Amino acid sequence: MPDAILEIRSLHKSFGALKATDAVSLSLRKGEIHALIGPNGAGKSTLIKQISGEIRPDQGQILFAGREITAMDTAARARLGLARSFQVSSVLPEFTVLQNVMLALTGASGRVMRFWRPALQDRALTLSAREHLQTAGLAGREALPAAILSHGERRKLEIAMALAMQPKAFLLDEPMAGMGPEGAKQLTHLLNRLRHQAPILLVEHDMDAVFALADRISVLVYGRIIATGSVAEIRANPEVRRSYLGE
Ligand code: ADP
Ligand code: MG
Repeated sequence: MPDAILEIRSLHKSFGALKATDAVSLSLRKGEIHALIGPNGAGKSTLIKQISGEIRPDQGQILFAGREITAMDTAARARLGLARSFQVSSVLPEFTVLQNVMLALTGASGRVMRFWRPALQDRALTLSAREHLQTAGLAGREALPAAILSHGERRKLEIAMALAMQPKAFLLDEPMAGMGPEGAKQLTHLLNRLRHQAPILLVEHDMDAVFALADRISVLVYGRIIATGSVAEIRANPEVRRSYLGE
């Protein structure tokens, strides 16, 4: 697929006798939000982890930005511009909101940063970090210690930190989890803006968010994709209604 930034070809992953990923193929196109939905235990997180490099597939290929990344480690994939957020949080609570984004911009680890205070005075870095915080909806919160942020604000900080990596694609595993209705609404708006920076592969249970955001939806059931299509196509698909939407 010529306009795909990410392409997964017939991926397989078993845990013992359990086929958690069973011949999964999908693509993420430039500018799109592709939602991945399915019941608990369907294999959504397992698939995301194979794309980010946290676990290795048994079979199949993953192509990203024109390169095969199937055997690369997570750090190499991140350097290529694959940003994964929301499950492994890299926010350092003892630093301010602004410093956390500056840290992400320098690519320095927290330990390095503790001894490398001068970077926190860098003007260009500060401006760039402020810009990402503005995009993520955290303008005005720069000087707060990250530790005191609300759950929703922490999600926004993670997005600002992901933006600092100049990602070519986002992998988001249940970003709405644990959010109240207002937080979910704000995050929906933010993700809608974020797609212009980089396309998003979005695992999400919040169907209001999925239906509001997705250009395409793939439905995963027992490790297999049973349907891929537009919101209207997926909502009208009888198999999807039966096996997932509970109708
Ligand atoms: P989802 O994210 O769709 O809820 P997961 O990808 O977390 O589903 O899990 C898919 C299936 O694989 C589940 O049955 C889960 O118990 C199993 N599973 C996930 N990770 C492991 C693991 N490391 N070892 C064994 N089984 C696992
Ligand atoms: Mg999961």
